[in-house]
Amino acid sequence: MSKKEMLEELNRWEERVNAYQYVQGLINLDLNAKPPILGMDSAQKKISLLIGESFAIEYNPEIYNLLLELEKEDLNPLDARRVELYKKKLEKNLSLPKEEYVDYRNKLTASSQAWLKYKHNGDWKSYVPYFKDLLASFKKLQSYRNEEGSLYDRLLTEHQEGWNKKRYDDFFFALKKELLPLLKEIQKRPQIDNSFLHQSYPADVQRKYMQSLLDYIGYTSDWGKISESEHPLTSWLSANDIRFTTKYREKDISAAIFSTIHESGHAYYTHQVDEAYHDTIIATSMEAAAQESQSRLCENHLGHNYAFWEAQFPVLKDYFPNQLGDISLDEFYRAIHKVEASAIRIEADEITYPFHIMIRYEIEKMIFDGEVEIEQLDELWKEKYKEYLGMDIHNAAEGILQDMHWPYDYFGYFPTYALGSAFASQIYSCLEKEIDVEEALRNHQYPKVMNWLKQNVHGYGNMISMDEVIRRISGESFQVSYYISYLKEKYSKIYGLGAF
Ligand SMILES: [Zn+2]
Repeated sequence: MSKKEMLEELNRWEERVNAYQYVQGLINLDLNAKPPILGMDSAQKKISLLIGESFAIEYNPEIYNLLLELEKEDLNPLDARRVELYKKKLEKNLSLPKEEYVDYRNKLTASSQAWLKYKHNGDWKSYVPYFKDLLASFKKLQSYRNEEGSLYDRLLTEHQEGWNKKRYDDFFFALKKELLPLLKEIQKRPQIDNSFLHQSYPADVQRKYMQSLLDYIGYTSDWGKISESEHPLTSWLSANDIRFTTKYREKDISAAIFSTIHESGHAYYTHQVDEAYHDTIIATSMEAAAQESQSRLCENHLGHNYAFWEAQFPVLKDYFPNQLGDISLDEFYRAIHKVEASAIRIEADEITYPFHIMIRYEIEKMIFDGEVEIEQLDELWKEKYKEYLGMDIHNAAEGILQDMHWPYDYFGYFPTYALGSAFASQIYSCLEKEIDVEEALRNHQYPKVMNWLKQNVHGYGNMISMDEVIRRISGESFQVSYYISYLKEKYSKIYGLGAF
């Protein structure tokens, strides 16, 4: 086959893969929207059949051979990167013996179901056998992949290009050294009163306000759709069809607001990838920390910006005059920055959040280095929460069983949450140099900021790694110091710590 023919075959295969993924995305959305329960048995059969077919199309050994052939050709940068990314993706599953793979899928299902069953009453002991089985099967399966380096290193790199244990160790060491004293200092200061955020905020009024907020950030129905579900999720169907869900909590006005701004950051990232990359793996395979950097940038650097609320607080007040009529912008701004150690990761503030991640990273390393008995993990969890956050964890439901990541074998994933926030800080420092962000936010010009991100970050998709994006826009490699200074400066002001 000529190079041209091989590329045409790759294109045809890619179109089929995309079509199946699109349908699966729609199915996921629908399953999340509470379809009639009695229809589920029949639906499940059809869905597993589709998933099986989709898997067979995607992980096709002939396509893998085609990629190996294409790799030898002189390709343009886009095709070269497509071949590189697809090859990496296919390699993950192709070399695995089928029986082992089936065994592993069964252990994974058993583990996730046991987790759902035991997490509510925090029954770690009953969940342990399932987790041990999953880990053993997962490790065995991974051993068939003849790649270099330790397994945990590989898992970390798989979720974020260029990141391994050594780099994460240095990263978390710096965070611990700089942020732990900051947290202890904040904990000595008088606490911020944010009780007015927890009055009654009727969901139907929140819904109406949310539309004003979406208008402000420019998330329009031409390319995005927001709906509601018990467990919020985002489905990237294509660059111009991005849907996410949110959940309104009556006793917490900030929950839906900040999760919406967070998700809109993910949505913008996918939406603004250069058109030349649409419907290719370049536009759909952005890595975990890269993705999280864009959602965190929107949620923290923009959504928690004073200027953002100079524009939005009067609007919010109009919707909730009884709840917020007497509250000043300064009081609101301080309230949304309250720092308080808590047991639950997804409810954590900006300062305590990295510690939740650090704890998971340290435990995960021990799991993969075989330095801890699985039975002891919940005790280890408690010790670490006491050490870092001063928290007593009484129950595994608010401890080790709170997240779905480990039961669903997302190993090496947690660290990307902290790294994403740190990427965001360095990107924001470049953004600030070129655009008067506060003026834009104050004057209802949020899309101006998004446009800068499109030109300098989003447009690349996964053509280059986030490390490389940062090098290009800042002229230097990734530095953790931007994240640390951002947190220190912002929270020293809010908590009156002087020059910390
Ligand atoms: Zn996110």
